[in-house]
Amino acid sequence: MLSRRITVTRVVCNLVLLTAASASVVATAQDDKSPPSARHRESIATNLTEGGVVFTFDDRNFDDWVRAIPLFDEFSVKATFFISGPIDAPALAAINQLKKHGHAIGSHSVHHLKAVEYFRQNSSEQFLRQEIDPQLDQLAEADVKVTSFAYPMSRNNAATDSALLGVFRHVRTGRQTQPLERLSEVDDLFIPAKDIARRGCLHAKGIDYAPDRPDRTFEQLDAALARAAHNDEIIVFYAHRISESGPGHFVTPDALRRIFTTVRQLGLATYTCDQLP
Ligand SMILES: [Zn+2]
Repeated sequence: MLSRRITVTRVVCNLVLLTAASASVVATAQDDKSPPSARHRESIATNLTEGGVVFTFDDRNFDDWVRAIPLFDEFSVKATFFISGPIDAPALAAINQLKKHGHAIGSHSVHHLKAVEYFRQNSSEQFLRQEIDPQLDQLAEADVKVTSFAYPMSRNNAATDSALLGVFRHVRTGRQTQPLERLSEVDDLFIPAKDIARRGCLHAKGIDYAPDRPDRTFEQLDAALARAAHNDEIIVFYAHRISESGPGHFVTPDALRRIFTTVRQLGLATYTCDQLP
């Protein structure tokens, strides 16, 4: 059974201070048998000012991800990998490799169900019990701390955010762009670095291979990255496999290399979700 205690180190605003103070009271009242999702999320002592990029990858594409480690290392990019399903031997093997190279691990739920629909048909408590706690227990046993969650199929609303932000510091969902929208003008995708601690739900841009989509061109991505660098904002990207082709959603290693090169040229930081306050 788990025995991790809540540690609230430093807080970044009065609102967080109030939340953290009441959480610590709750935490001491709970015994170690409480499910992981019942313990209040931890806060960390970082306050960001510098814009940057958060690269995230979803599901169970372990072989691809481990194969891409040298590419990440070459550019000193640290990413976050959101795992769905059981934290079994293949998952643990990949997690160990990824963590050894500075990457973070997030939860993507046990059964990859749509949270909004699940909440309506069942309850938030049931979602945490069935979809979150088993993963957090297994990860804690492997000594892996998890601070973030990615919604399967980007299905979130105020109710799901409220429940999951009681457990995780950040939740990630997708932000679809309209055909004529310029990526660099979609304000939802850009969070001032100094505000990141107050923004629980992060709207992310998909970068999987989609040659017919106008929002996936390098020209659009470059302009978005330039805005983040210029304004000290944080932009979150998501993808799935890292491979030359499908099946399934994928981003090619060459495309990642191209994006990493722009990130480096612009002097942008990269952050894992665990590094975000
Ligand atoms: Zn997924």
